[in-house]
Amino acid sequence: MRIFRCPRCRAEDISADAHPTRVLDNGVERPVFVCRNCYRAAELEFRIASQTGDVGYVPLAIRDGLRQLRDFYRARLAEDDDERVRAALAEVERRLAIDVV
Ligand SMILES: [Zn+2]
Repeated sequence: MRIFRCPRCRAEDISADAHPTRVLDNGVERPVFVCRNCYRAAELEFRIASQTGDVGYVPLAIRDGLRQLRDFYRARLAEDDDERVRAALAEVERRLAIDVV
C-alpha cells in the first residue's frame, strides 16, 4: 500500500488515520492532514499564526473536518484500494450520517 506521510513530522503514515487541521499559507488558510501525534501541536501552531497574522482564528467545525477527511480517504482509496483506508472512510461516513448540525 502507498504510504502517505504526515507532512509535519514526516514519519507517521496517515493513509488510514488522518486528522484535519489547517496551516496559514501566505495569510490564506489551507487544510492539511496530520498524524494523531501532531494534531494538537499543528492546531496550536495554526492558532498562533492566525493571531500573529491578524487573521481571526475560528475552530474547525467538526462537520467540515469530517467532510475533508472523507475527501482525503476517497483520494487515498482512488490511489490504492486498501482495507484500512476503506474502514476509515466508512467510519467517517458513519459519523457524517449521524452528527446532525
Ligand atoms: Zn506527524
